[in-house]
Amino acid sequence: MAAMAISSSSATVRIGCKKSAFVSNASSSVRSEFAGLRRMDSMFDMGSSHCLFAQMQRNVQAVGNGCRGVVTMAGTGKFFVGGNWKCNGTKDSISKLVTELNNAKLEDDVDIVVAPPFVYIDQVKSSLTDRIEISAQNAWVGKGGAFTGEISVEQLKDIGCKWVIHGHSERRHVIGEDSQFIGKKSAYALTQGLKVIACIGEKLEEREAGKTFDVCYEQLKAFADNVPSWDDVVIAYEPVWAIGTGKVASPQQAQEVHVAVREWLSKNVSAEVASQTRIIYGGSVNGGNSAELAKQEDIDGFLVGGASLKGPEFASICNSVTAKKVAA
Ligand code: PEP
Repeated sequence: MAAMAISSSSATVRIGCKKSAFVSNASSSVRSEFAGLRRMDSMFDMGSSHCLFAQMQRNVQAVGNGCRGVVTMAGTGKFFVGGNWKCNGTKDSISKLVTELNNAKLEDDVDIVVAPPFVYIDQVKSSLTDRIEISAQNAWVGKGGAFTGEISVEQLKDIGCKWVIHGHSERRHVIGEDSQFIGKKSAYALTQGLKVIACIGEKLEEREAGKTFDVCYEQLKAFADNVPSWDDVVIAYEPVWAIGTGKVASPQQAQEVHVAVREWLSKNVSAEVASQTRIIYGGSVNGGNSAELAKQEDIDGFLVGGASLKGPEFASICNSVTAKKVAA
């Protein structure tokens, strides 16, 4: 038996249900089965809160009718896990990784995306199961043409990419991309129908100087100032000090920033966008720490670097969506 809890600053709703009953009863009106658990509190304005609460009640009815049902909060996105392969791999190692992913048992309740290096996207697209979508790690800011060394959004779509990562810390701090440029690149991708994984995150010295929220807000604002809509955006909070270092943020540290990001969206974009936009965590996520992180209310999934290069471990991170379920 499994149950899902909906937390509120003032109350908790929990209805238990056999998973099979939940799956069969979950109608299309329920946007996702194991979405991030959502707080319904003062961060939302009254009109929107009422609207979201009404939808939440409908969802509870949809899945809980006649059983002790697993419930989901209204308007939240499906759990999401992305694998960023960065500048790693060869034809042979990528072929092995694809085979591992094709053979992995993956939970249904998670969107999965991998981002191979450009030169292997075609190989991956033609050999990887359609269950997993493909992302690019970067894209040019506008239509293609005389831009030596760049890859255009149109070309990425042409070879089957559905996503692009923008704002990754390695592009910000190693390559030198600034927030406005990143915002513009994201806007162009979205207008052409490529979905965006929008990365934000503070450096260690910024965290130590108490500037974590300011840095994240500045980076968020540049996305907000440019993107035409948040419908196809997943925000990845990736503290720079945790990327590739083995120093994972604690679940509480990650949750604190995810809450702040959601509040920023609520105040500066809309309550609906705050509720519906997935906020995933990245930074030394592995098969051993993903379940504890996934239990956090505002963590809607992960962006994974190093551990995404090992098929079975990446699959187990994807399957940490089950940690969203609370044992009854
Ligand atoms: C990343 O590159 O986005 C990342 C989170 O890397 P790692 O998981 O290796 O820290």
